[in-house]
Amino acid sequence: MSRMLLGPGPSNVPERVLQALAQPLLGHLDPAFLAVVDEVQVRLRRIFGTENAMTLPLSATGSAGMEACLCNLLEPGDDVVVGVAGVFGERMCEVASRIGGRVTRVEAEWGTPLDPDAMAEAMARVRPRVAAFVHAETSTGVCQPVEPIAAAAREAGVMLVLDCVTSLGGIRVSLDEWGIDAAYSGTQKCLSCPPGLSPVSFSARAMQRVQSRSQPVQSWYLDLTLLAGYFGQERVYHHTAPVSMVTALCEALRIVEEEGLEARERRHREAAAALIETLGGLGFEPLVDEAYRLPPLTTLRLPESILTRGEADVRRSLLDDHGIEVGGGLGKLAGRVWRVGLMGHNARVENVERLASALRTIVS
Ligand SMILES: *Cc1c(COP(=O)(O)O)cnc(C)c1O
Repeated sequence: MSRMLLGPGPSNVPERVLQALAQPLLGHLDPAFLAVVDEVQVRLRRIFGTENAMTLPLSATGSAGMEACLCNLLEPGDDVVVGVAGVFGERMCEVASRIGGRVTRVEAEWGTPLDPDAMAEAMARVRPRVAAFVHAETSTGVCQPVEPIAAAAREAGVMLVLDCVTSLGGIRVSLDEWGIDAAYSGTQKCLSCPPGLSPVSFSARAMQRVQSRSQPVQSWYLDLTLLAGYFGQERVYHHTAPVSMVTALCEALRIVEEEGLEARERRHREAAAALIETLGGLGFEPLVDEAYRLPPLTTLRLPESILTRGEADVRRSLLDDHGIEVGGGLGKLAGRVWRVGLMGHNARVENVERLASALRTIVS
């Protein structure tokens, strides 16, 4: 059975990545595999826009990347300011508070970006150890401008954690230029690799903070000082690296760099513009103002023609009869919008045409 995955992730995987997954296993300390790990780290640095030595594929999905960033930088009782304008900002609050962080929320309406002045005000008032927010909010389709919040964090001397799960490999991410201290992503969105790894990156300042903690990181598995043994110079055992997934990620990153980051961003923008135009003809309307739209993931308000048929039934028919997956609304937006992902390999105008023609068949 083949599916076209136009939801919020996973996205489809190119044939070359599937082939990489099927390679005979190597040992996780085999020099031939360590060369693959090296290559993944070098390529991830370029795609993240950073020279951070501590840039690596964590052996878990994006949510574990979130947890790793927060649990290494925060100690129980530390203040943290979190921007919340969707499900993943909410998740950051939940993770931070379970670590013992004292969370100050800065909220914005779902479908709109965070207000940098409100983030600046909270950072100046609370003086938190860390501030965290989402670059590409997959639950709403908002792309958050990073620079104004990063400037305010610099002014307040606050470390910044950025969720790049749905931006990395789709639109520009530039950690060093922005001054981000810790960032995480996932393989199954714009990198077009199966779910299973979380690329993460930590600045030298973040690593100093981790090294000067008064108590060890609560999570043994996610403790960066231990992970550094395998992903640093020594290459000693910490846990068994998921060899096949790392090999697949390496191939996915080669594909990203063969295309080039700028060309890739352009392709995402063109596909999203075609989606809005073409589905606009069927009565769908974008939820987010043009200035803040996230090309890899578009949220569309549903027209009467879909609502009267039952939006969940229409999605079921897209899946069963046409092999196309799109995402429903999440949280507060459930039943009101669809989330259409045109991520990585899938960000193509021909996929928009296939979706539109299937929809025309269903609603006609
Ligand atoms: C998908 C996603 C995550 C969580 O990633 P998982 O791989 O599902 O654990 C976190 N943040 C954002 C913005 C996402 O889109």
